[in-house]
Amino acid sequence: MSIKTRFAPSPTGYLHVGGARTALFSWLYAKKNGGDFVLRIEDTDLERSTQESVDAILEGMEWLGLDYNEGPYYQTQRFERYKEVIQQLLDQGDAYYCYCSREALDTLREQQMANKEKPRYNGQCRDKTEQHPEQDRVIRFRNPSEGEVVIDDLVKGKITVANKELDDLIIARTDGTPTYNLTVIVDDMDMGITHVVRGDDHVNNTPRQINILKALGAELPYYAHLPMILGDDGARLSKRHGAVGVMQYRDDGYLPEALLNYLVRLGWSHGDQEIFSKEEMIEFFDLTQVNVAASAFNTEKLLWLNHQYIMNSEPEIVAKHLEWHMQQRGIDAASDGPSLVEIVKAQRERSKTLVEMAKASVYFYQDFTEYDAKAEKKNFKQGTDAVLQVLLEAFTEVSDWQGETLHEIVLQKAEQLELKLGKVAQPLRVAVCGAGMSPSIDVTLSLLGREKTLKRLETAINYIKENKN
Ligand code: GLU
Repeated sequence: MSIKTRFAPSPTGYLHVGGARTALFSWLYAKKNGGDFVLRIEDTDLERSTQESVDAILEGMEWLGLDYNEGPYYQTQRFERYKEVIQQLLDQGDAYYCYCSREALDTLREQQMANKEKPRYNGQCRDKTEQHPEQDRVIRFRNPSEGEVVIDDLVKGKITVANKELDDLIIARTDGTPTYNLTVIVDDMDMGITHVVRGDDHVNNTPRQINILKALGAELPYYAHLPMILGDDGARLSKRHGAVGVMQYRDDGYLPEALLNYLVRLGWSHGDQEIFSKEEMIEFFDLTQVNVAASAFNTEKLLWLNHQYIMNSEPEIVAKHLEWHMQQRGIDAASDGPSLVEIVKAQRERSKTLVEMAKASVYFYQDFTEYDAKAEKKNFKQGTDAVLQVLLEAFTEVSDWQGETLHEIVLQKAEQLELKLGKVAQPLRVAVCGAGMSPSIDVTLSLLGREKTLKRLETAINYIKENKN
């Protein structure tokens, strides 16, 4: 059997973490089985769907590297097909027109609630023979009244629902537009979806969808309903918990591979392995191993993973993502400074995110306008200008600008001046970086290059003369 899965987001907001995890699990299952993965945009809710959200979803999928074999399909382009299926159901007697007004349905619901009954449509129009096309009417699916629906959910196990628990669902609104449960099953059927992987907020829809599929004589897909994701406070993950849109993680300096790795562990595990390459995810993943219980989002863990990926990925790959962050700061690394690959190598141990790395690397490309106040106070004292002057003169003589040579000079001059190394290297660091922290002084100076180093030493000497002596 060739496998086909799909991700079917409604474009009513960003691609959020929960959606991304659903997409990932669906994608992994297809990849693992040599199957196809379909992207379908469920944009039939015209009021809430926006082009901006469609773009955000496509952008998020691309950033995460979740590629699809088919699509994106758009449900708004398939209205004719939905009409056709609705007509088929009407013709077969599996659907009927319902004339009940909203007021009548509200009253019914109130009565049922008052009687402590489950609110449900009472089938008032089920057997109406006379039709009134001039009146407002919806179309309902005629749910079987006997028997039961059994779902062999790949995650949740067997779920049995009695048909008498299910009322007759609206499949077309008064304006003739199809509703979610109808469009979903028509698409799953037409697109040949074999495995429906989705959030368990849809589990109540599944028996209804199965009944409609059966009425159409369609083959039923397998279902896998994924458990919810909770925030660290135990409530369902939402905007309240901070960055939940996938692209926000890019903006905050996460690598897509780190986020994917984090997402795959939300509700799935393979022994106690924490770090998975994409290939390993594909190899080990299985829907039947997904946890039944909800999983909690843990930002600390994500941050830890991100740091692991920054440290251990190919520097060239990290550099490509860092480039975007430098651009956000108006820096074109290719034209005015050291190679970003070298920056990554120098900074990766100390940077948990690419935002931290970018921020701590600006001075390699741009002159700073002021010294970090604390570092300045601690390291620039009366007389420090003389120390820097000695370094400046020695550095000016250097023709081969190598970290080791420069480091050697710093050591020699400290000895000559009878100062501890820190009393020389630290003011030097503040002079050339503007801050008290940077990679080791040899790496810092070699990345900065001769011109910037000498110029900044001069500036610092003048600054100390004016302000400290
Ligand atoms: N469009 C639905 C949603 O975004 C998903 C439907 C499905 O996966 O069956 O919640």
